[in-house]
Amino acid sequence: MKSVLFSIKQVEFPGRLNLAHLPTPLQPLDRISELYSYPYGGPRIWVKRDDLTESAMSGNKLRKLEFVVAEALKQGCDTLITCGGIQSNHCRTTALVGARYGLKVHLLLRGEPVTQADGNLLLDRLAGAEVTFHSPAEFARDLNSLFNFWSDEYRKRGFKPFCIPTGASDGLGLWGYLSASQELMADCRTRGIELDHIVCATGSGGTQAGLTLGCHLQGLGVKVTGYAVCDNAAYFQSKVREDVRHWSKLTGNPVDTQSLQVNVNADYIGPGYAKAEPPIYKMIEEVASLEGILLDPIYTGKAFYGLIQELHKGHYKGSNNLVFVHSGGQFALFPYRQNFSFQRG
Ligand SMILES: *Cc1c(COP(=O)(O)O)cnc(C)c1O
Repeated sequence: MKSVLFSIKQVEFPGRLNLAHLPTPLQPLDRISELYSYPYGGPRIWVKRDDLTESAMSGNKLRKLEFVVAEALKQGCDTLITCGGIQSNHCRTTALVGARYGLKVHLLLRGEPVTQADGNLLLDRLAGAEVTFHSPAEFARDLNSLFNFWSDEYRKRGFKPFCIPTGASDGLGLWGYLSASQELMADCRTRGIELDHIVCATGSGGTQAGLTLGCHLQGLGVKVTGYAVCDNAAYFQSKVREDVRHWSKLTGNPVDTQSLQVNVNADYIGPGYAKAEPPIYKMIEEVASLEGILLDPIYTGKAFYGLIQELHKGHYKGSNNLVFVHSGGQFALFPYRQNFSFQRG
């Protein structure tokens, strides 16, 4: 795709790999809307199926990695180093994309060493990624040193490493959801949908940053809200702007980040990142049985649960159409299997 986005004339579209099956489907959730939205004056709910970007590489990270890994290849790098939680979808996608291009992949995983690999970690191993485990304290203390240590290590061994930040969320990865926002607007135009709101789960901020900047640049007045799964609203307020500033610097395209409308709902994080209470699992069961769609307990299940609560409160009253961006994560259902009601006995 060589086209220049929107009216950003001076922007050189960066390199991009062609891995995701695009456009992903946009489909209505009519049973969910009947039950949880219309009774409260809410919109018709649609889902943008970014859980279908690929099969093993599925989810939102693939859109960002198309740009980030293209840059790594352009620089002649042969090793990708990145980080995430034990069940990181980003790490799993990086491991598979690396395998696809014959690159070495090293994953820095946050948590205690796991002997029996399950879910995403099983797929990291299948893809042949190197994995090291690091305590949450070590991660919090100095993630940069960890990246530097392993980069030096690979250089010493004669490799050329490329570091990818958490969730591939930076000014380069931002292109993934900047172009997704354009794709979504085209979906809506084709279907005659007048879009009011876009909702997504937000974890490292890059999906929200791309969608927010995309809607801002297209000037259509579509409101983007990120439902946080970790950290707090202030963190995402600044992280989204930081990614946009980085994009702006990389492309030489000025954006007034203070005037950017960044909407964060941080009321549904629950006990913390990758920890969910029974109502989230119940929501996942309900969406699977009503619509045939798999949400996950770390990201999309929490965000969707939050959305349903806000619909109930009348927060989206009077709007016509809302798109929930399904960012993937289905492989994490398996290691969390014991939390479903039918498993608890
Ligand atoms: C990473 C991830 C998110 C969050 O996206 P960010 O761009 O990191 O904020 C949402 N859903 C799933 C399934 C993810 O893997």
